[in-house]
Amino acid sequence: MIPYGKHTIDASDIEAVVEVLSNEFLTQGQRVPAFEGDLCSYTGAQYAVAVNSGTSGLHIACLAAGVGKGDLVWTVPNSFAASANCARYCGADVDFVDIDPVSRNMCLIALERKLQKAKQANRLPCVIVVVHFAGSSCDMQAISSLCKPLGIVLIEDAAHALGARDPQGSPVGQCAYSDMTVLSFHPVKSITTAEGGAVTTNQTALATSLRLYASHGISRDPDLMRMPTPEKPWRYEQLVLGYNYRLSDIHAALGSAQLKRLDAFIKSRRERAERYQEALIDLPVKLPQWDERSAWHLYVIQLINHDRTDIFNQLRDRGIGVNVHYIPIHWHPYYQSLGFRVGDFEHAEKYYAGALTLPLFPELTADMQDEVIKQVKEVLR
Ligand SMILES: *Cc1c(COP(=O)(O)O)cnc(C)c1O
Repeated sequence: MIPYGKHTIDASDIEAVVEVLSNEFLTQGQRVPAFEGDLCSYTGAQYAVAVNSGTSGLHIACLAAGVGKGDLVWTVPNSFAASANCARYCGADVDFVDIDPVSRNMCLIALERKLQKAKQANRLPCVIVVVHFAGSSCDMQAISSLCKPLGIVLIEDAAHALGARDPQGSPVGQCAYSDMTVLSFHPVKSITTAEGGAVTTNQTALATSLRLYASHGISRDPDLMRMPTPEKPWRYEQLVLGYNYRLSDIHAALGSAQLKRLDAFIKSRRERAERYQEALIDLPVKLPQWDERSAWHLYVIQLINHDRTDIFNQLRDRGIGVNVHYIPIHWHPYYQSLGFRVGDFEHAEKYYAGALTLPLFPELTADMQDEVIKQVKEVLR
């Protein structure tokens, strides 16, 4: 089976990981700050806080933004559940902004309308989690110009988009028009640390808060201490209720080795996406909008005249590991139990009805891709 996504590991990755195993520290050593520095250099953000998953990153980003019980957080239905779950972890309510059928990202018009209504009802979100679907950056400048005047904190869920650039040309992760950006290093994403993630920001207070929440809420920084006890060399204080979301040095070493090849990975993905665009143009399917600056995390076609389940099964039977991204978040029984209904978000649901993800990853060979194209043509014939 040709998978829909796959990591790329070479000798330099193996060497980097093995090297850590003979170091003094397996965790809380020098590899994590080094990886964080590498992420800052790549994205141009001032701070990066490495964590043990993208989901942990989303959780602490919400906590650092001050999300709590009774607050409201918005995201899009066309994403992985973690984009909404992070708000629920903090006790906040979730709502969704529908997507644009062309970009498949948050619809600016829907956002503007929903903000107007929310303002009138005096129930504005405190945070919006903006997802860069399939690696194509949203227009954060436009989103920011709608949200900043209302005091809304913007968190980019860039789990798909490390290595992409925004429409203005800035690297995703720089937080040029957002407060924080969350990255994931799961094996199918742009680079991998097996499990892992990071949050980038340019705000010192947010960086301090993120670090605190990622490590039990405990600090050894004398400037943050509150107890009036005299100085003791072992002194530390738990200031908030935090978590153990730390990344280990083993994972971080893999991340730094991978990051060196990120641009090559993205180039490889873009070339394969371009090849699909050309090969599939005459088929009765809707192809993704071309985006030169996308990280091309996923290549999703939309079937128009065919039964998606039938085509999915046929392709799987023929050894093509197609997948579906995403079942709308509000369709899941958990979100239905919170009051959402099928039919609530028209464009995300219409998109989902025909969506089919084709294999795309840096080491997808020309022969493998030819096989995918041949089989897709045959089943759609
Ligand atoms: C993968 C993913 C996450 C979660 O990342 P993990 O590292 O797997 O926890 C969050 N949001 C989106 C959109 C994702 O694709």
